[in-house]
Amino acid sequence: MPITQVPYFAFRDFPAGINQQVEEAVLRAFRSQQYILGEEVETFENEFAAYVQAGRAIGVGNGYDALVVALKAAGIGAGDEVIVPANTFIATVNAVVQVGAIPVLAEPDRYTCNLTAAEAAVLVTPRTKAIIPVHLYGQACEMAGFLELSAKHNLTIIEDFAQAQGASYQGRPVGSFGRISATSFYPTKNLGALGDGGAVVTSDPALTDYVRMYHNYGQQQKYHNQIVGINSRLDTVQAAALRVKLQHLDALNSERQRLAQVYLTRLQGIDDLVLPVTAPDCTHVYHIFNIRTKQRDALQQYLSTQGIQTAIHYPVPVHLQEAYTFLGYKKGNFPVAEELAETSLSLPLFPGMTEAEQEAVITCIHTFFERHG
Ligand SMILES: *Cc1c(COP(=O)(O)O)cnc(C)c1O
Repeated sequence: MPITQVPYFAFRDFPAGINQQVEEAVLRAFRSQQYILGEEVETFENEFAAYVQAGRAIGVGNGYDALVVALKAAGIGAGDEVIVPANTFIATVNAVVQVGAIPVLAEPDRYTCNLTAAEAAVLVTPRTKAIIPVHLYGQACEMAGFLELSAKHNLTIIEDFAQAQGASYQGRPVGSFGRISATSFYPTKNLGALGDGGAVVTSDPALTDYVRMYHNYGQQQKYHNQIVGINSRLDTVQAAALRVKLQHLDALNSERQRLAQVYLTRLQGIDDLVLPVTAPDCTHVYHIFNIRTKQRDALQQYLSTQGIQTAIHYPVPVHLQEAYTFLGYKKGNFPVAEELAETSLSLPLFPGMTEAEQEAVITCIHTFFERHG
């Protein structure tokens, strides 16, 4: 019999009182009757830009749109090549295709699971226009090499920091390295809204002006359209909720790091179990706590029978997705990405997870390997 039910993720009132603060903010936004843009959105944009140490932030409808808008603003279009990791969430790659560019997939590092400048460097061609380092699972990519590569070949660096709000490299927040960067406020992200949301951040005033216009129908002034834009705006009510959550983001990330440390300590030295590795100079905010084992499917199945939910990020690497057969890649092209897809398991980890819940996960993993070791 399952001793306890452990969800993969749950929304808890952590830090205590946050739920009430969010409710009050939402009520305030509702009563203001300002539903689209306005002061609440502007204030959140300013607070988020300050947090990321980027010049400006512009709220958009979701993380995917943030990537598309960032690519557009950087002038990426038809025929341009954009280097992306083969093990990212599909949104990163879809956004490249959306603007008419060609995604060029790269192997991740086998320890950090992140794209490295060394892997990207070998894929640079005269048609390469941009690289999208994805701070996967919440760990900052090693950015110095990307900045060198960018200077050497005149490439645009666009960070995808959807999973890593609050992480840093050499003490500087992710999102502040790229010429323009994109993030998501999908509810389960480290900084999550109450629905869809996203933001583009940049310190380049020309790109700021472009994004401001492009995300709101290409208008600089109501009914005066400079460019053919889209409608992708951050809802005012979401901005109100995000302002509250942003104040607690460091506390939420610290709690994730504390929980991760418990797993790292207690799951050491078990058979072939590979625990997450954080590179020097990088911080990890554990959006996902990813472990690896050859017995992944059996372990997941066993945990499930014990009432413990897990997830797989991601079961199919981009080059083996049906949607991407047109790129012409084959199985075997990215051995590291393929191995990650076959062996990765994400354990429950979320702010407010109880000690009893985490103990249950740890105990069950030990029991599984005692039987299958
Ligand atoms: C969640 C996520 C996105 C997309 O965000 P949405 O808001 O769901 O569109 C993009 N990239 C990565 C790495 C993500 O994890």
